Amino acid sequence: MKPAAFDYVRADSAEMACELLVKHGDEARILAGGQSLMAVLNMRLAQPELLVDISRSVSLSKIQVRDGQLEIGAAVTQAALEWRPTLAQELPLLPLVFPHISHFQIRNRGTVCGSVAHADPSAELPLCLLVLQGSVVLRRGQQERVLTADQFFTGMLSTARASDELLQAVRFPLAQTGQGFGFREYARRHGDYAVCAVAAVAHAQGLRVAVGGVADRPMVREWPLLEGSALDDALNEFAWALDARDDPQISAAARRHMVRRLGRQAVEQARTQS
Ligand SMILES: Cc1cc2nc3c(=O)[nH]c(=O)nc-3n(C[C@H](O)[C@H](O)[C@H](O)COP(=O)(O)OP(=O)(O)OC[C@H]3O[C@@H](n4cnc5c(N)ncnc54)[C@H](O)[C@@H]3O)c2cc1C
Repeated sequence: MKPAAFDYVRADSAEMACELLVKHGDEARILAGGQSLMAVLNMRLAQPELLVDISRSVSLSKIQVRDGQLEIGAAVTQAALEWRPTLAQELPLLPLVFPHISHFQIRNRGTVCGSVAHADPSAELPLCLLVLQGSVVLRRGQQERVLTADQFFTGMLSTARASDELLQAVRFPLAQTGQGFGFREYARRHGDYAVCAVAAVAHAQGLRVAVGGVADRPMVREWPLLEGSALDDALNEFAWALDARDDPQISAAARRHMVRRLGRQAVEQARTQS
């Protein structure tokens, strides 16, 4: 299928993109990498009148360290972040995760912010933002507001972003000494969206574990330092709380099993590094 007709404008700055979003509201959509949006348009699941292409905006293509956080602008591709030479020191979780996000061709076009804005419950970058306690910068006109990842993701492909707001940047807190990171995923084929993905952060006071692909959005739990059966019990409680559903491909019971197994492996990986 082909998309319904739309107008196209290339926005060279956040100001211009915001102006167009405020003017056109629900009728406009941001086009970032197009790796999710074009499929949605081709299937006519959305028929916006205007696409605002931010992919070539230089001001939105910056990655910068600010106040202990790595700030990633709306036009930064997943590949640009993946190949940042200092990424392994700044955000050691992400080099573990990038190989699981689709294929390099998609990461060359897809943006970090586009993945967060799209909010697929199986996507890896929203999961990372949540487990690392990151935040999003939303902009309407000249006004900005910052929401934590926990506040931002509200459900299946839904977020707290209003239709006239630009997701201007995402912010990941830089790794601290003593933190360790783990990631495990099961997907049907390499590069597919996760059936179940688990990210873990271990630190001196305890553990933070997030799960993607099971509930309608990524979900997170914070625990004190747990060992042995206490960790198994906590993961089991988390698995049931995610309210997994049966679908034609995989049962809810299998998804809960993955949360328990992949959860333990991710926690063990995080602990060996902390
Ligand atoms: C074959 C294939 C396999 C894939 N596999 C995976 C996978 O395994 N894991 C995974 O996580 N992803 C996967 N993806 C998705 C990929 O990561 C996308 O790049 C990403 O989800 C969307 O990023 P994008 O920049 O392409 O956004 P677009 O497709 O341009 O936009 C997606 C949505 O977000 C909105 N949007 C984008 N940027 C902004 C912004 N700055 N402000 C406001 N709204 C915005 C758009 O309007 C649109 O509604 C796959 C994609 C394909 C085609």
